[in-house]
Amino acid sequence: MQVAQVIVDVPTRQTNSPFSYSIPDHLADQIQPGMRVQVPFGHRKITGFIVGITDSSSFDGKLKPIADLIDLYPVINPELLDLAQWLADQTYSFKISCLQTMLPGGMRTKSKKKLIAKNQQICTKYPEIFHGEPEIEYDRQQFDNQTLAEILKLQKMGDIRVEYNLTNHARPIMLKAYSGNLDQQEIQAALKTVRKNAIGQIKLLKTLSQHPNDTLLLTKWESMGVTAGTLKTAEKKGWVSATLKRHVRNPFLREVAPTKPFELQPDQQKAVSSIEKAVSQKKDQVFLLEGVTGSGKTEVYLQSIAHALAMGRTALMLVPEITLTPQIVGRIRSRFGDQVAMLHSAMSSGERYDEWQRINQGKAKVVVGVRSAVFAPLTNIGLIIMDEEHDSSYKQADNPRYQTRDVAKWRAAYNHCPVVLGSATPSLESRARAMKGVYTLLSLPHRINQHALPHVSIIDMKTEMAKHHSALSTKLADAIQVRLDKHEQVILLLNRRGYSAFLMCRDCGYVPRCPNCDISLTMHKDTHTLNCHYCGHKEPVPTVCPKCHSKRIRFYGMGSQQLEEQVKNMFPTARVLRMDVDTTRKKGSHEAIIDKFGAHKADILLGTQMIAKGLDFPEVTLVGVLNADSALQFPDFRSSERTFELLTQVSGRSGRADKTGEVIIQTFNPDHYAIQLAKTQDYEKFYATEMRVRHDGKYPPYYYTVKLTGNSPSENQTASEMFGIMNFLKKNLSPNAIILGPTPKTITRINNHYYYQIIIKYRKEPHLKATLDDILVQSQKKQRQGLQIAIDNEPLDFM
Ligand code: ADP
Ligand code: ZN
Ligand code: ZN
Repeated sequence: MQVAQVIVDVPTRQTNSPFSYSIPDHLADQIQPGMRVQVPFGHRKITGFIVGITDSSSFDGKLKPIADLIDLYPVINPELLDLAQWLADQTYSFKISCLQTMLPGGMRTKSKKKLIAKNQQICTKYPEIFHGEPEIEYDRQQFDNQTLAEILKLQKMGDIRVEYNLTNHARPIMLKAYSGNLDQQEIQAALKTVRKNAIGQIKLLKTLSQHPNDTLLLTKWESMGVTAGTLKTAEKKGWVSATLKRHVRNPFLREVAPTKPFELQPDQQKAVSSIEKAVSQKKDQVFLLEGVTGSGKTEVYLQSIAHALAMGRTALMLVPEITLTPQIVGRIRSRFGDQVAMLHSAMSSGERYDEWQRINQGKAKVVVGVRSAVFAPLTNIGLIIMDEEHDSSYKQADNPRYQTRDVAKWRAAYNHCPVVLGSATPSLESRARAMKGVYTLLSLPHRINQHALPHVSIIDMKTEMAKHHSALSTKLADAIQVRLDKHEQVILLLNRRGYSAFLMCRDCGYVPRCPNCDISLTMHKDTHTLNCHYCGHKEPVPTVCPKCHSKRIRFYGMGSQQLEEQVKNMFPTARVLRMDVDTTRKKGSHEAIIDKFGAHKADILLGTQMIAKGLDFPEVTLVGVLNADSALQFPDFRSSERTFELLTQVSGRSGRADKTGEVIIQTFNPDHYAIQLAKTQDYEKFYATEMRVRHDGKYPPYYYTVKLTGNSPSENQTASEMFGIMNFLKKNLSPNAIILGPTPKTITRINNHYYYQIIIKYRKEPHLKATLDDILVQSQKKQRQGLQIAIDNEPLDFM
């Protein structure tokens, strides 16, 4: 008898190991690990993942049989099943959450499926399945057990393809399009009738003559200079007909012309050769590729990927959330065309599933994506690349709290392939590993074309503020004016962390706060509301102080909206674009802003961190950073590193082409080493200085860290439970472990829950894992009283 090992969808410690179920005879030999099933559990039926199949069980009593099959093929491959197991262990999370993380969002157990016959022969040979149709919707009720077994067998042999239908809920998007009604002769005749200055109509007729049989989307017409008005007129004349064209889901949105690899510079050549060697030798070596912006890292990635493909293997390239711009995707597609699949959180679940499917079927050989793409179902991976490896978006903040870098290294070991970590400012952890020889350091010390690094100056805002109350220093304002006069472009960065507009009464000092959280409300001018960024609470902006009834209630601080207003007031003729979470919420808007700025349809782009990375605009010759140090005041030992990274990144945005760039950094801490060293872009010195700070403070990379967070609706309960945990840790860990806390978190109350945390710093603690597992088991029992405990291994956020 065959027995299936099933991880059931009940996230508790007790159900974290597989349960055994017998496999009904008709499904024997057809069920595979990685498929989802329905199983009886207590009095209910629940779903679960098959993680293994054994021949008999040590289980003595009668096993319950699997009730039904959800997937007709394994949705998780053997590698990812192993990875889920490791991930659960590594991140102190439930196996079920890790398994679910492997699947593209939206692939629900209730999703409808289609069965597609490989060819006509299959279709005719199995009328009981297909009834003569090439594809059918799969409905379990319509098939008896025997037919189901048959379907599974055919699927396994590749005669039937199964696809999930994630488009059910979304109506197809129909876009306006026009097609021509004239033949070439009629076009020529029409051309003679139009006035010489009717440029739109002439363009339209010429386009018709070039695309005689095409139905072109309105947007396409517009991109060729033919307006909607011109088309309407032409429609009345009978030249064209309007129709609707189905929008084809395409995450790339635009065509890309192929490009050829560059001839490599000597440093690039050295890097590529080392990486290629590891690919060829199937070595899971980790490289750290260090090089400032513009030093040619991306070209190294592209040529190394080409080598992996030439060896018949696949490649995975990871990029941070906000740098997955059309620019970088375009460069990759220009080399590898349709072999590229993209995975991004801004894609709809349908788009993501389509890409996932192409990867799963082996059609896509190169995957480019953000954090979660590290779970792409690629097989036979020959190379993994992680661009901007220091970026904090690589760490998942929720369960399972994984660090992408660790997952990438795990997959590299499994697939016997190298990993390339690239950065201008490597994380201290990675750089320290490279110094110890754990990673291989490759460096690109020069900018391609020998472009000089931009000139950086630092403005002390303490003296500026004594003179006037503008967000822009005199020097920065003057520099902007110079660029506007020369028709060059400017980027202004507002470092948003912990910096936003709030309301305060000038007479009594009253600040409106969230009723549910310990935090002041943020002013949103577009909706004219005060919002809480933690729980979503919203209220209207008061016109008089609720406390003293004074009318002098004003807002302070500066959000990007306020900055935009100020800049527009100071430079009334400048065309200003703003990019922040508010202006990029709508799909495609991020891209639209980049396109517009790239086409020089705006003079100033201002925004938050989003604009600091990955963008390449040759006309930008000035970058202003308005508040370089707002992150420095954060009680987080990584704040210097983040500040240095950000300033280095943003400086790389200035002067990318043949014009030399200038960077102006405004700060209240002009002497801080992170700011001084960012001025000279001296990573080496920053590394040395910061390592000393970390050493003295007993921080990573000298120490490992774990964060435990507890929350409950009662502050007393949270505090006393956390003190209990601290005592338990003290009893079980060695005296060398440093246990900090429990302390209330910086924002103690969120949504009426009270948060406390404990930080553990350690070098070697053989009992740590068992102790933390124990704490999780204990905490499960307390969950009913509202207490939640979360463990974050190597957290990035210490507040
Ligand atoms: P990075 O990724 O380090 O910022 P890129 O790979 O984007 O650097 O290179 C910067 C610029 O130099 C790009 O415009 C790229 O097309 C160009 N480039 C890169 N390598 C070469 C090369 N070997 N020869 C000529 N141009 C190159
Ligand atoms: Zn007041
Ligand atoms: Zn709130």
